[in-house]
Amino acid sequence: MQNEAGADPEGRDLLEVWIDQDLCTGDGICAQYAPEVFELDIDGLAYVKSGDDELLQTPGATTPVPPTLLRDVADSAKECPGDCIHVRRVSDSVEVYGPDAA
Ligand code: SF4
Repeated sequence: MQNEAGADPEGRDLLEVWIDQDLCTGDGICAQYAPEVFELDIDGLAYVKSGDDELLQTPGATTPVPPTLLRDVADSAKECPGDCIHVRRVSDSVEVYGPDAA
């Protein structure tokens, strides 16, 4: 089987996630669902984390969605009261979970 760019070895689309802090309410639901990916900072807003646990605070910063955590990250996007968690395909930046998903 030939792997396409932007897909994992099983052929699943690689996904990434970012948070629009301007809309974050700071309730912490995302960090409860997926603490490996989301964390609240002392400013009371949620941020995505890098694979080595570093908070990524540049506006629009993305982090890869580990396939094992996809369900938790997708649920976070669905439940987010601020509608500000965006999960998109790496290959074409199309949003698959979040307020701008089809
Ligand atoms: S669930 Fe949404 S609104 Fe709540 S802390 Fe996370 S990003 Fe912010």
